[in-house]
Amino acid sequence: MVKTRKQFGQHWLKSEKALSKIVAAAELKETDRVLEIGPGTGILTRPLLQAAQSVVSVEIDRDLCDLLGKKLGKIDNFLLLQGDFLSLELSQLLQPFEPFQNPNKVVANIPYNITGPILEKLLGRIAEPNPQPFESIVLLVQKEVALRICAKAGNHNYGALSVRVQYLADCEFLFDVPAQAFQPPPKVDSAVIRIKPRPIAQPAQSPKHLETILKLGFASRRKMLRNNLKSLIEPDDLNGVLASLSLNPQVRAEDLSVADWVNLSDRLLARSGNEILNSERSDSASMANRIEGGSEA
Ligand code: SAH
Repeated sequence: MVKTRKQFGQHWLKSEKALSKIVAAAELKETDRVLEIGPGTGILTRPLLQAAQSVVSVEIDRDLCDLLGKKLGKIDNFLLLQGDFLSLELSQLLQPFEPFQNPNKVVANIPYNITGPILEKLLGRIAEPNPQPFESIVLLVQKEVALRICAKAGNHNYGALSVRVQYLADCEFLFDVPAQAFQPPPKVDSAVIRIKPRPIAQPAQSPKHLETILKLGFASRRKMLRNNLKSLIEPDDLNGVLASLSLNPQVRAEDLSVADWVNLSDRLLARSGNEILNSERSDSASMANRIEGGSEA
């Protein structure tokens, strides 16, 4: 068993059953080019290489890269990049390697402590979607985060992260993976999700404004929306806007569907125009800084 480094969120998947379910979930075709983040010892990489046209794997740990080079280095359709996935310019790096360019699917058992930043890098964000979206993204993540990503309005797991991801993609919670499926077992439960980016169903007039009201709206989950948005609009005035969207004046952020959020954003913008735009901050609503709760595995 290869020793693990905690700072890189290393937990080796050892369950054959979980592995084959993950590969099946990716629905790979012989023409697919796969991107894997964090191959570790290569346990998932091997079956991916068998099912897809090519696999490019990005691994931060140099020692593991040496090991993987020895194990899988001779396989033609495999390319290993050593580095931090979050800071790599993937399309630039892949330029000289034609068979690996523009991977169309992502399959990975990722380090849980950087789930938010990984999602943002793969999907982009509301105000800046990835211009070259992947066809599908199958990820093994912390179960709590999986539930939050896939939750629908009204569910207690539904939050700003759900809206940010579902604005850009369809999300499916696929199955649980027990802690004993890993070596060493993480302290949290795990699950596999599939995210399929798609054209935005109903684009907000100002995606930045939508990011701003999401951040404010979900700032305090127990409060009613009208109190969370007080800095933008008088609670009494918001009642009128909510009524015009057939929403109860007492709604909380978690009651609003993605479409409701877009409509609310558009209405508020139409009401106060530039006043709101001027107070926007582009760094206000990153997925990266909203996953704090579910970081440590
Ligand atoms: N896929 C393997 C390993 C999962 S553990 C398996 O299923 O067994 C997560 C892996 O991500 C580790 O190999 C870790 O070294 C790697 N990793 C952690 N941070 C990373 C980063 N920023 N960029 C790329 N790889 C990273």
